[in-house]
Amino acid sequence: MIKTKPTGPIPPGYQTIAGELAIGGQKASALVTEHGSPLFVYSAGRLDARMAQLRDAMPDALHLHYAMKANPYQPVLRHMVGLVDGIDIASGGELRMALEAEAAPEKISFAGPGKRDDELRQAIEAGVTINIESPGECDRALQIGKAVGKKPRLAIRVNPDFDLKGSGMKMGGGAKPFGMDIDLVAPAVKKLLDAGAEWRGFHIFAGSQALSADAIIETQAHTLELAARLAKTIGRSPDHVNLGGGFGIPYFPGDEQLDIVKVGQALSDQLARLPDILSSTQFAIELGRYLVGEAGVYLTRIVDRKQSQGHIFLVTDGGLHHQLAASGNFGTVVRRNYPAAIANKFGAEPDETVSVVGCLCTPLDRLNDNAAMPTASVGDIVAIFCAGAYGATASPANFLGQGAAREILVA
Ligand SMILES: *Cc1c(COP(=O)(O)O)cnc(C)c1O
Repeated sequence: MIKTKPTGPIPPGYQTIAGELAIGGQKASALVTEHGSPLFVYSAGRLDARMAQLRDAMPDALHLHYAMKANPYQPVLRHMVGLVDGIDIASGGELRMALEAEAAPEKISFAGPGKRDDELRQAIEAGVTINIESPGECDRALQIGKAVGKKPRLAIRVNPDFDLKGSGMKMGGGAKPFGMDIDLVAPAVKKLLDAGAEWRGFHIFAGSQALSADAIIETQAHTLELAARLAKTIGRSPDHVNLGGGFGIPYFPGDEQLDIVKVGQALSDQLARLPDILSSTQFAIELGRYLVGEAGVYLTRIVDRKQSQGHIFLVTDGGLHHQLAASGNFGTVVRRNYPAAIANKFGAEPDETVSVVGCLCTPLDRLNDNAAMPTASVGDIVAIFCAGAYGATASPANFLGQGAAREILVA
């Protein structure tokens, strides 16, 4: 008997039409027939609902930013531009995409280590805020500003002296390529002010993919305390402080939804008793996967069903070249199963244990391991959920000459 491995929780709210998974009111099989397979389907309605819940839970004055690296697909990005207060970018390529999606330059901020001179120039000319990652980058931005005759808008990204507990990816607390160590921040601000640049405040990002409200609350408290401490050292109030993000989504068995109401209440309390030096500061959080992850589904058709030594393999036309994260090869230590289903038998009782694999000739290409599924055959469609973030954009589409998946934004 093969031991079944559980799959992650399917995000709530997906509909069934005639026994099939439906996204934006359209059956999975109809979507694949019309647009081809493999296919990423993103739902605008789910994006709207997620943003509405978040707005409700967070303090009114808090700005909500979208970190577009989670999903830069132009129709999704354009939709998000209409919903959020800011777009966070991390490359010159993302700057072009954000401007193309009609994000206002004054609402864009640019973080990331290793910004090239041409990227800094484009950002300064466009008038976006640059989150400066090092003293060297600060000097280059000031020089480029002078050369192009434009006042750069610069915030300092701080390498915090704490991390986000329980986060999937640690971005602070120790030696890091991101941001400046705390003791370098005040001298950098002084230098950029002396050079006549516009100082936009701080960017403090301590980690990603946390599901614990308490961990996020603690990190936000530390972040506010650090911002106040830095402002006092500098002797000026920052116009803007980006508090980072780190709101996670459940991917794996046992994961639970983050309690954003609790986070929002605690943040409201904290913002209500700020020290004077932060009393006129505009605060923001920046979220990627929390905004878009659960709004996407990856659909891939079964092209073969085979057995090997008692194991059943469903071989699909998709794989890790589109869904590196679901294959367990994007920053996870132990491979666990993403939420998945047979899309055209959605809600049917499982009656066999199968492994869903991709079409790549590598043992890494596994979308699901020993999962309990209703019996499926060639032509049926596998759905992998939580595919709205770090799916298409974070996978090696050219591997084995396969090419990119199709993407579509539906209602
Ligand atoms: C990647 C990244 C984000 C988004 O992370 P999520 O886990 O998708 O929310 C936000 N801010 C910065 C600085 C990042 O590098």
